[in-house]
Amino acid sequence: MLSSKITIHSLHQSYLSNPDSLFTHLQAYTRRIREKNESIRAFLYIQELKQPYFPSVPKMLPPLFGIPIAIKDNIWVENMPCTSASKMLETFIPPEDATVIKRIKQAGGLISGKTNMDEFAMGSSTENSAFFPTRNPYHLDYVPGGSSGGSTAAVAADMSLCALGSDTGGSIRQPASFCGVVGIRPTYGLVSRHGLIGFSSSLDQIGPIARTVEDAFQLLSVIAGYDESDDTSLPVQWKDLTEKKPTTIAVLDEIEHLEMDKEVFDLYQKCKQWLAKHFRIITCHIPSFQYALSAYHIIADSEASSNLSRMGGDSAFYPPFEESYEKTVIELRTSKLGEEVKRRILLGAFTLSSRFKEGYYQHAFYAKEHIKREFEFVFQQADAIFTPTTITAAFPFGTRMDPRKMYYSDICTIPSALAGLPALSIPVGLNENGLPVGMQFIGNPLSEKTLYRLSQWMETSWHA
Ligand code: GLN
Repeated sequence: MLSSKITIHSLHQSYLSNPDSLFTHLQAYTRRIREKNESIRAFLYIQELKQPYFPSVPKMLPPLFGIPIAIKDNIWVENMPCTSASKMLETFIPPEDATVIKRIKQAGGLISGKTNMDEFAMGSSTENSAFFPTRNPYHLDYVPGGSSGGSTAAVAADMSLCALGSDTGGSIRQPASFCGVVGIRPTYGLVSRHGLIGFSSSLDQIGPIARTVEDAFQLLSVIAGYDESDDTSLPVQWKDLTEKKPTTIAVLDEIEHLEMDKEVFDLYQKCKQWLAKHFRIITCHIPSFQYALSAYHIIADSEASSNLSRMGGDSAFYPPFEESYEKTVIELRTSKLGEEVKRRILLGAFTLSSRFKEGYYQHAFYAKEHIKREFEFVFQQADAIFTPTTITAAFPFGTRMDPRKMYYSDICTIPSALAGLPALSIPVGLNENGLPVGMQFIGNPLSEKTLYRLSQWMETSWHA
């Protein structure tokens, strides 16, 4: 895996010294996608890469000039299908680019295709895709993680240099960890959600996936910044973010007590000991950690049931109603939505129903606020928090069919998502089966540049 050493910087250097090399690189990417997609199945839609036209070689290249970027299939790209890996949207072609895609194109980036995912981003393995599961490039019998498993597998298998995913409760970081790549969930509101098919609007964030920390942040710097088309967009630009030299790193007592794979646990301990040589390490508490998973599923499912209520009633996609509107909608939803999506819509409709909403949705919101405040308290004492990204490495297909087991995969990524914090996963080693293990840094809101410094330093100086 990760056989080539190409980065954005090296690709640009080779272009500047020999402009023809870009064409060769792009052809190689297209060839690898076609060859490897048969077994890995990372892409749902493949786009031939074309060399950007420049009359003469410019001195300063736009930041993503000629860089192939694979896009999770819940993000709108004009003239490409956008299914969210659902039969419900099988024929949908978005009318315009999402804001992040407009920015990537303006920065010279090339869209290499649309990647597989769990249907409507609900899942942790891509086994919920309505079309087919994606395979982990490190071992084809194992899942790549999810829901952005197609994007992380594409980068890990060198089918794309970078990718975009979306993270509601961990869907960038968990598959990044399973596939041995870097994945960033930005601060909530730093990246526009305009053109992202909504799952849970108060949690969803688009973020970058790449082989190196540097490349992931370069892509983030392009897509970040205020967008008037998204009401939750923060009024900041990337250049406004400040950087702090980190001195103190917190670890969480609650994480130490989780049931974790021994190999993940051992790597985590080793990383901590190593970090302790360079930083002050303090142990902190997030007492409401225990409520995070339940609060997340109540909030996410409630918002999903509301967001997805528009699906299946749109006569633009489907033939005119035969008998009644209701019957057609019931038939469409019954036949075109997968089990997990139906389960969440039903649970969400229940938790939002007038008799129960105070008991469930509002309580979940209180828990979310508590978690946020507890993180704020930790950040009064520390510059970043260090945890494993996941409690296990990738698991074999078909081994987490009980949804509660699957939900537990995200125990380390959900709390920071509820608090709207930036967090990223970086690879730190392989387990005995040769599968990657990732660790997570969590930061204060808008501390992306501090996280960049910290994780880049770890990437270059840590050796398992
Ligand atoms: N795996 C989690 C879920 O199924 C998170 C999904 C996501 O972040 N989109 O809800």
